[in-house]
Amino acid sequence: MKAILIEQEVTKGQILNHHAEVRNLPEDVLDGAAAPAADAAVPAMTVDVLFSGVNYKDGLAVGGRPGVLRTSPIIPGIDLVGRVRESADPWFSPGDLVVLTGGGIGESLNGGLAERARVSSEYLILVPGGITARQAAAIGTAGFTAMLSVLTLEREGVTPADGPVVVTGAAGGVGSIAVAVLAKLGYEVTALSGRADSQGDYLRKLGAANVIDRSDMDQPGPPLQKRRWGGGLDTVGSTVLANVLAQTRDGGAVTTCGLTAGSDLPATVMPFILRGVTVAGVSSVYTSRSIREIVWNRLATDLDLSLLDSMTTEIGLDDVPQRAAEILDGLVRGRTVVAIG
Ligand code: NDP
Repeated sequence: MKAILIEQEVTKGQILNHHAEVRNLPEDVLDGAAAPAADAAVPAMTVDVLFSGVNYKDGLAVGGRPGVLRTSPIIPGIDLVGRVRESADPWFSPGDLVVLTGGGIGESLNGGLAERARVSSEYLILVPGGITARQAAAIGTAGFTAMLSVLTLEREGVTPADGPVVVTGAAGGVGSIAVAVLAKLGYEVTALSGRADSQGDYLRKLGAANVIDRSDMDQPGPPLQKRRWGGGLDTVGSTVLANVLAQTRDGGAVTTCGLTAGSDLPATVMPFILRGVTVAGVSSVYTSRSIREIVWNRLATDLDLSLLDSMTTEIGLDDVPQRAAEILDGLVRGRTVVAIG
């Protein structure tokens, strides 16, 4: 089977040798170190992969950056969409169209950048009716995380009546889908992008009412600033997130899921203790199946699939190493799907 295989030598957290390449591999590679545990409570199943994707994490893994991969050799790819080939789990039947985002694949377990995958059924979801295999992959971890962030804002009581919501890293995968969903739900969306000039029209087509440049928000500012946002959906972290918090209105909430600007948070407690602002973390990897179903059902109703198609680029397995380098350089817009089967 055709797959990307990564081999790494890691000592004390430092990657000494990194090799990522498209290869023809014997299928027993799926039984190697990165296979689901044979004695796991949840049965493993075999999936014929139709599509995978390239998320920021895949860029880090394929590009030889630390922090994502937990074992070697491993097939990367934190997302997969495919048809069940063999199932020991009565919940699934051969031929079912399924999607798996996260759950450890492409990190500690073999992932989706291969023609076949052997995965635990624990985090597998039937693709909701009306969403094609390609669209499910275009949603992938990025879209799942965008919707989980929107659900978190709703849980924290942020409504369209509370004023503009800012989305950071807006031209990226999570950001693009977040802009489209929030706008469809009636929020006035301000998209913050380092490419406001070149991607302004794109972001407005997704539904952004305003587009501002990252340079407005990436320098350290006072702990409390002019109230601008009813809420925020942050994908970049660091000084940008600190400024979003300092500009959030009383009682507002801001979600945090990403760190493309940095994993630090140079902020003070002032927005929390003087304006009652909430910061809410979003983690997609080990979300339970019941929450996954809620998220996918909301995606099926609240994401405009024609907008999703307009933000999707399709590549083949051979193109993934190049795409990984581009995503780390911040050059990729929207979502990238990898056509496999
Ligand atoms: P993408 O690469 O698609 O998008 C990232 C965007 O971040 C870029 O398009 C760019 O947006 C912005 N960006 C890049 N570099 C910088 C920088 N130096 N400073 C500020 N902004 C920058 O990535 P994804 O959308 O897939 O992921 C976004 C983040 O969310 C990543 O950190 C990823 O690891 C994280 N993530 C976390 C998940 C979780 O479960 N917590 C799940 C999914 C993703 P623009 O050009 O518009 O400025």
